[in-house]
Amino acid sequence: MKKNTYFIIILLFITSFSCSKDDESNGTENTIDYHLQNVGASSKDLLSDTQYKSLVIELIYVEGFEPTQQAVNNIVAFFNERTYKPNGITVQKRSIPSPGLSPYTTNEVRTIEDNNRTIFNTEDQLAVWALYIDGLSASNSQNSSVLGTAYRNTSFVIYEESIHNLSDDAFEPSRQALETTVTLHEIGHIFGLTNLGAPLQSNHEDEAHPKHCDETNCLMFWKTETTNGVMDMVSGDEIPQLDAQCIADLQANGGK
Ligand SMILES: [Zn+2]
Ligand SMILES: [Zn+2]
Repeated sequence: MKKNTYFIIILLFITSFSCSKDDESNGTENTIDYHLQNVGASSKDLLSDTQYKSLVIELIYVEGFEPTQQAVNNIVAFFNERTYKPNGITVQKRSIPSPGLSPYTTNEVRTIEDNNRTIFNTEDQLAVWALYIDGLSASNSQNSSVLGTAYRNTSFVIYEESIHNLSDDAFEPSRQALETTVTLHEIGHIFGLTNLGAPLQSNHEDEAHPKHCDETNCLMFWKTETTNGVMDMVSGDEIPQLDAQCIADLQANGGK
């Protein structure tokens, strides 16, 4: 009898111990998997300081395709303008050799991130991954190519080689203006624009181009991320801004 009781107690102890261990590993997995969510899922975390008081951008570029310092400054300024991050916004920049897979599918871009991303959230710091890649997007059609894609809640890719082909020549916008425009548009998507995590405060989603703003001068107009459209949006050093309706959506979801 007594022996049996001991046995039961030991069993209970083992069970409860393994339960708490499971809980612990689930907790760790949750933090690691944070960056694998859909675009827009981190709208509030990016915009507000409720959980994350600072933000770090892990900026990775393929050798030869580093974005201009002016564009990087504009990106940091945009975060400061639209989000609450009282402990600051920093950029950690690094190059990688060409993955050599052009044209890149979004799945290939995800794998490149999985193999190279090193910065993840801490308790009060949010991490963003920005990739400036060589080569082209596999989503290109004959008439138009994609200049950037936001593909996870804190991740986006910029097709920097396509940007080189479209900038800094006669009748073309400046490189920094084009880099800034496409990058800020993708950041707008991870901020939850338009109707992608930041709830609409007014009816301004473009029915023909879902998750984009229907205001033709707005940064979130669909034309800003395609080669055949962007020339209507950017000229010289002029960068399109968010319109009042997009800004209202950001403000209603915790942003500035
Ligand atoms: Zn877009
Ligand atoms: Zn807009």
